[in-house]
Amino acid sequence: MLWLDGLPVLPRPLIVRLLLYDTLLLSVIFFHLTRAFLRRDGHSRRWWIAGLVWLLAAILLGEHLLPLPNPIWPGGGADTLAFWMVTVGWAAFTGSAVWLSVQTYTQIQQPLHRNRITYWFTVIGFITADALLFLTGSATPGGGLQLIGVMIATYVILTHSLPDVRHTARRVISYLIITGLTVALYTAGILATQYAFQSVPGYSSWLAVAAIALVLAIVFDPLSKMVQRLVNRLISSTHYDLRRTVQQYSANISNVLDLEQLATMAITFICNELQIRRGAVYVIHHMRRPDQEWPDGYFKLRGIVGTGNGLPPGNELPEGALQPQSPLVENLRDLPSLSQYDIDLLPQFQETLPEEKAWLANLNMDIYVPIYASGEWIGLLTFGPKRSGDRYFDHDLDLLKTLADQTAVALKNARLFDDLKYRNEKIEQLNYELSVANEKLARLDQAKSDFIGVASHELRTPMTQIRGYSDMMLDMLESDGLSPESGAMMIRGMSKGVNRLEEIVNKMFEISKIDTETLDLNVEQVSLKEVIDGVVKDFDSALQERHQTLAVENLADLPTIIADDDRLKQVFMHLIQNAIKYTPDGGRISITGRDLSETALRPEDAFVEIIVADTGIGLASEELEHIFEKFYRVEDARHHSTGQTKFKGAGPGLGLTIARGIVTAHGGRIWGESCGYDETNLPGSEFHVVLPVESSQMELIRSEEFEASL
Ligand code: ADP
Repeated sequence: MLWLDGLPVLPRPLIVRLLLYDTLLLSVIFFHLTRAFLRRDGHSRRWWIAGLVWLLAAILLGEHLLPLPNPIWPGGGADTLAFWMVTVGWAAFTGSAVWLSVQTYTQIQQPLHRNRITYWFTVIGFITADALLFLTGSATPGGGLQLIGVMIATYVILTHSLPDVRHTARRVISYLIITGLTVALYTAGILATQYAFQSVPGYSSWLAVAAIALVLAIVFDPLSKMVQRLVNRLISSTHYDLRRTVQQYSANISNVLDLEQLATMAITFICNELQIRRGAVYVIHHMRRPDQEWPDGYFKLRGIVGTGNGLPPGNELPEGALQPQSPLVENLRDLPSLSQYDIDLLPQFQETLPEEKAWLANLNMDIYVPIYASGEWIGLLTFGPKRSGDRYFDHDLDLLKTLADQTAVALKNARLFDDLKYRNEKIEQLNYELSVANEKLARLDQAKSDFIGVASHELRTPMTQIRGYSDMMLDMLESDGLSPESGAMMIRGMSKGVNRLEEIVNKMFEISKIDTETLDLNVEQVSLKEVIDGVVKDFDSALQERHQTLAVENLADLPTIIADDDRLKQVFMHLIQNAIKYTPDGGRISITGRDLSETALRPEDAFVEIIVADTGIGLASEELEHIFEKFYRVEDARHHSTGQTKFKGAGPGLGLTIARGIVTAHGGRIWGESCGYDETNLPGSEFHVVLPVESSQMELIRSEEFEASL
């Protein structure tokens, strides 16, 4: 542009206008450069278009390229309109660049990033000053200020490790103070000696100067140290005694075997000593077994302890996974430490997987120091920013590395110990589970063989009955000796046998439905009193036969419930049948109702309870849960008598299983209570059935608890 200015062919006003457009264009470019520098370059096309459209509009107006009436602008001609458009556009883009930089600076906590942005502020300062001088008519643009700005920008963009502004400022301040103090002391000394000794005969100003210089040389060193300390304290920088720190650290951690304790000790010590805001210790597990997601295995990073503010929510350290080829792993192997600043900006980290980067971002740390023991990567110390806001200087990183090395042996031992502890616990747990499973298996096995025994016994009795009658009938028919009465009697006998067979097969069928969760319920309003009265009636003759009494109490007051009455009949049929069977002749049975719905706050919390109690032989406490299992019977399968209501006339061990399946399907609960098994003292048993008044949660409970109950 300056060169154009020298050409005689172009009129000067045009050149000035060109410079004006150029200023706007540069501000648009600079805004984009700032966005790229701050890594906030989303939607960049939109901004480019806005900038260029504004520029185009300014050119069209400024160059009278649009057939618009003149003047279109109260402040003067199209020239001044173009000038103001350029100025407003320039101010908008430059202002946005400043605002974006300030915003990023305040958002980012990491000192290295902040340091980098601080440099950018000086770039903005120079470039803006240059443009301002031009717009106010004080200078032509593209002068020295802009050049300095561009040079600083180039330096900042091309240099990764920028000198620390705070540190440099601190040095300059202490240098200035010391220089000022020296000059002041020197001058004061000379003036004082002159004033005091001038009249003394033999006074030599040379000697006086030499004496003051000597005094200054002696006090200079302590003075400069004092000033440095003072400045450091003013700008709060951390200082520590390296040897003492390392010694104390090793002494602290050397005998700790517990992994968590070691990690806590290490991280608290380092954070206190270096005045670090937060830190965390990770242990590394090299998972060598390949799987689909990680064909080469991976490094699992398990957080042990974190301390300080700003850790992930709940102080829960997220578990990380790094692939062996990750640039992070490679750099942690080769370098004593790694900074988040490097990971964010250096090109070699561009290949890092997004999930690995996201994990690091979530950690919210500045520095990562690996711990190696005999060449194996076993741990990672991570640290957030320092309290002072300072960066980590080389001496800090050296100290961290030394401390990490000191930690290696202790960490290795603690890991081994932890591993051993974990394995031990795991083995104990497995042993326990195994013994439980074994017990269950043995019981199941027993139940199965019992079932085969019981089923064949149960099935054989009616079958023998049928076969006997049919053989007899055939013989009698062949010998023409079958009278109608004896024929009818035999057919009745056969029909009884078939009924019994049908009953057993039906029970087995019910069980299979419960097992496969295909038990359908036809629910309606049901009165429990009606259900139970109906069942009790069926047992009238059995009760008479066994001289037992059965009392029904409080059922009339119970609310009606929504349930399947046929299924509920089955439940109480089994319970009453059992009560009769396991109570000696002359015993008492009672069926009592309780309304539990009165205290319920919501309709779905309303329940009713039915208790079937007897004065029978009772049940041992360890049997109380097993009796609901399939085919489970307390007594030995070989010693039972067949019969639906005979004393101890055990069935195939399916009654309670069916009862529990049905009650659970209704969203209820069933359990047994007894003070023990005793055939002489007859402690009796109680069976409790709790059913919901409204079965709205039925679906839910059916799916969740059904399985667990069987
Ligand atoms: P079963 O068809 O053998 O009666 P159940 O499933 O109904 O099978 O009962 C399982 C076992 O629970 C029975 O073998 C019996 O030993 C025990 N049992 C059930 N009800 C009672 C009770 N009221 N008193 C004592 N024992 C009982």
